[in-house]
Amino acid sequence: MMSERAQTILKEYFGYDAFRPMQQSVIQTVLAGQDCLVLMPTGGGKSLCYQVPALVMSGICVVVSPLIALMKDQVEALLANGVPAGYLNSSLSAEDQYELENECLADKIKLLYVSPEKLLSPGFFSFLKRLTVNLFAIDEAHCISAWGHDFRPEYTQLKYIKEQFPQVPIVALTATADRLTRQDILKQLGLPSAKVFVSSFDRPNLNLTVLPAKNRFKVILDFLESHRGQPGIIYCLSRNSTEQLAQKLMGEGYKATAYHAGLPAQARSKAQEAFLKDNVQIVCATIAFGMGIDKSNVRWVIHYNLPKNIESYYQEIGRGGRDGARAGALLFYSYSDVMRLRDMFKEGNPEQVSLQIAKLDRMQQFAEAATCRRKILLQYFGETLEKDCGNCDNCRNPPATFDGTLLAQKALSAVARMQEKVNMSLLIDVLRGARNQAVLQKSYDKIKTYGAGRDLPHQDWQSYLHQFLNAGLLEMAYEEGYALKLNNRSREVLFSNQKVKLVKFQPVAEKEEEKVER
Ligand code: ADP
Ligand code: ZN
Repeated sequence: MMSERAQTILKEYFGYDAFRPMQQSVIQTVLAGQDCLVLMPTGGGKSLCYQVPALVMSGICVVVSPLIALMKDQVEALLANGVPAGYLNSSLSAEDQYELENECLADKIKLLYVSPEKLLSPGFFSFLKRLTVNLFAIDEAHCISAWGHDFRPEYTQLKYIKEQFPQVPIVALTATADRLTRQDILKQLGLPSAKVFVSSFDRPNLNLTVLPAKNRFKVILDFLESHRGQPGIIYCLSRNSTEQLAQKLMGEGYKATAYHAGLPAQARSKAQEAFLKDNVQIVCATIAFGMGIDKSNVRWVIHYNLPKNIESYYQEIGRGGRDGARAGALLFYSYSDVMRLRDMFKEGNPEQVSLQIAKLDRMQQFAEAATCRRKILLQYFGETLEKDCGNCDNCRNPPATFDGTLLAQKALSAVARMQEKVNMSLLIDVLRGARNQAVLQKSYDKIKTYGAGRDLPHQDWQSYLHQFLNAGLLEMAYEEGYALKLNNRSREVLFSNQKVKLVKFQPVAEKEEEKVER
C-alpha cells in the first residue's frame, strides 16, 4: 500500500487525488531505498516519481538535469506549489549560489536541481556530504549512454554518484531509450540491481501518416484545411526552412511563426508564449522547440523532413495530443533527406557515426514500412502490440501483402547457422550466394542456406529484413557490430511454421520528388 503520507503530499502540494499506476510503484520502490530506472513517455508524469519521495523523506533530493533552460521553470512551479526548491547552474551569480547553498545546509530546501557540470565541479560532492541527501534523481538519463540518441560525454561521470553515495537511492528517468540504451544506463550508473519500470509508450490517440515529400506545401495547406484553427508544429531540418515556411504560411493567411536556436532568446520566448496562449496557430521549428513545453492541446505535428532516428520522431510527435484527444502526425519522407542526414553524421568518432547510421536506417524503414506503423514504433521500444492499431495510414489502407514465410525461414535459418554473428549486409551476401572475402573467410559458403535467396535482388532482401526487424522477428545488436539476433518470435517462424506477411518491395522513385527549397 502506498504510504498515507505520499497520498497526503500528492493532494496538498500538487492538488491531485490519485497517483498514476506506475508512479505509485516507482514511489514505493524509491521509498524502500531501491534504485530504479523509469521509462515513461513525455507527459507521463515522471517528475512526481522523485518529487513526492523527496517530500516524504527527511533530507534533500538532488535532481540532475541537462536542461538548464527548464530548471528555472521547474523550480518556479515547485515554489508556486509551496515546495522549497532551488537550482544551481552556470546561469547563477556566485552570490546567489552561495545563498542557496546556505539554505541547503540549513535544511530549508527539499529539491535541489543541478546541471551535471555543477554536480561534478570540484568540491560539490563534499558539499553534498554535509547535507542529508535522501535521493538522487537523474533526468534525461539516456544522455549517459553512447547507445542513446543524445549522448553527452559529461553524463558518463555520473557513475561517481553511486561510488560516493552508496547508501542513497538513485532514480534514473527517461522518455526515450531502446533496449540496449536501457541496459547501458544501468551499467553506466553502476546500478546492476535497479528495478526497471517501463510504462506503455502507446499513444493510441495519435494518428500516424507518412507521405512522400512531394508538393509538400500544397499537402500542408490541404492538411490545414482539415485542421482549422488547431494549434500544431511543423518540424524542419534547417533553420532557414522554418523561416521560409512560416513566411509562406503567413502569406496564405495563417498565424505562423518560426522557432530555432539561432533566434535571439527574446524572439524565442515570444514565439513560445504566443503558441502557448494560442495567439499563433503554427510554429515552424527545428528540434530546438518543444523541450519542456507543456501545451496539452497541440492537435497535430508535421515533419517536413525525416527525423534522424525513431527516438526523436517519437518524442516530437509525442508533443501532440497530450490531452488524450485525437491528434495527427504527418511525416514527409524522401530519400534525399536520408542522404542529407548521412552527410551530417560524417563528423564525430566512427563508432558514433555507425550508430547514427544504424538508427537512421531504422527511421527510414519505418517511413518505408507498409505494415502498422504503431506496431513498428512500439516494437522499437520493446513493446509488442498484438493487434494492428487501426489509426495509421497503413492500417486504414493496407497495402497488398504476400506470404513471406519461406523467405523469413531462409533468412532466419541462415542467421542461426552463422551463430547470430552476421550483420545485415553479410547475411544478404550469404543468402544471395556472393563469393566475397567476408563470406569465404568464414566458410559461410558451406552453410545449407548459402545462395538460398539468390533469386531476389539485394535491395529486396534489405527491405524484407527490415520488415522482419520492424515486426520483431529479428533483432539487431548494435553492440556486436550490428549482428542480427533471433528471439522467441523468430523461433516460432522457424520451428512452429508461424506465417509471415510481407509487402512487396517498391523503391521510392527519387525523381518524382519535388525540387524544394531546403
Ligand atoms: P514528464 O516529466 O514525464 O514529461 P510531468 O512530470 O511533467 O511529465 O507530468 C506531465 C503532466 O501530468 C503535468 O502537467 C503533471 O502535473 C501531470 N500529472 C502528473 N502526475 C499526475 C497525477 N498523478 N494526476 C494528475 N496529473 C498528473
Ligand atoms: Zn496501425
